Amino acid sequence: MANIYNFNAGPGALPAEVLQEAQEELRNYQGIGASILEISHRSKAYESIHHEAKQLIKELMGLPSDYEVLFLHGGASLQFSMVPINFLTEGKVAGYIHCGTWSGKAWQEAQKIGQTLVLASGEKQSFKQMPELSNLNIPKEMAYVHLTSNETIDGIQCRSFPDTGHVPLVVDMSSDIFSRPIEASRFSLIYAGAQKNLGPAGVTIVIVRRSLLARIPETIPDILSYHTQVKHHSLYNTPPVFSVYMVNLVLKWIVNQGGVQSVAVRNQQKADLLYQVLDNSGGFYKGLAYKDSRSMMNITFCASSSEIENKLLAELEQEGFLGLKGHRDAGHLRASIYNGVPYEHCKALADFLTEFQKRNG
Ligand SMILES: *Cc1c(COP(=O)(O)O)cnc(C)c1O
Repeated sequence: MANIYNFNAGPGALPAEVLQEAQEELRNYQGIGASILEISHRSKAYESIHHEAKQLIKELMGLPSDYEVLFLHGGASLQFSMVPINFLTEGKVAGYIHCGTWSGKAWQEAQKIGQTLVLASGEKQSFKQMPELSNLNIPKEMAYVHLTSNETIDGIQCRSFPDTGHVPLVVDMSSDIFSRPIEASRFSLIYAGAQKNLGPAGVTIVIVRRSLLARIPETIPDILSYHTQVKHHSLYNTPPVFSVYMVNLVLKWIVNQGGVQSVAVRNQQKADLLYQVLDNSGGFYKGLAYKDSRSMMNITFCASSSEIENKLLAELEQEGFLGLKGHRDAGHLRASIYNGVPYEHCKALADFLTEFQKRNG
């Protein structure tokens, strides 16, 4: 295989070692003579994967003992509805931080369930900057405050999280979970589709503080209730077994990298490398996000003209750099440099961008 550098936004690059391991044991999982894809989710073999992945999430995140970890279907998008269905009950109001496409979708879904209030919006900055979160005015009786920690499409990320007091803070961490250490006890519910930083599509990680479960109405469908899912240890129905298996391999890989702190150091180096090329290009390239909000995961940028951008995208593809075209709503370019993208691949991209500028600047 020729050198391929994968910068796809989602599903995104997985560590090469993880893919290798999955390939090696695909047909015969640990000597049982069958694939993990074709055995019961109630089998000892699967149950131990399920349990190990849960345990690793707790350890790597440093979760206090009053949190539950769930593996659910439906992507992060189902959580846009599931959060309000469970917690935005009669007479309550939910607060939303509107900081981009994904938080906008979450807010839109919540409006179908109950009353919402936008506590801060990045609309005036065209979602290229995180709104100020340090001085939010949060009514004490709010159902929850919802935030998106990394807006994948415009490439902006929260540097610090708001203090919501006794109001539960719910965060969509789909595109930056496990990319940097967080203080887990500040959050009441964290959710993340796995396909960006943690594994393949098909499983969504939900981390929920147990004390919240008492608020969930019994009238909602079982499969949509966090309460039911906790009671059944995410085995209410058949879980996405292969996705959970892959997530478990990625979690073990993070442990082998030295944990989340070490991964975060490398992620910062990767992002710095690329932002430096943009900032030192004398305007040939430009980062699209405000500097104080730049994402460490999704680097959005443009080149001096659309002709140059098209030429650049064509050459990138030819040279084996995949997935650099910006999201269809945002245009321009985007390099997604999730945990699974090695430093060397970012270096190769940085070098190519510098060399391309020399030829076309
Ligand atoms: C990709 C993404 C989603 C949507 O995820 P699905 O699993 O496709 O539903 C939601 N939120 C954020 C921040 C994302 O990056």
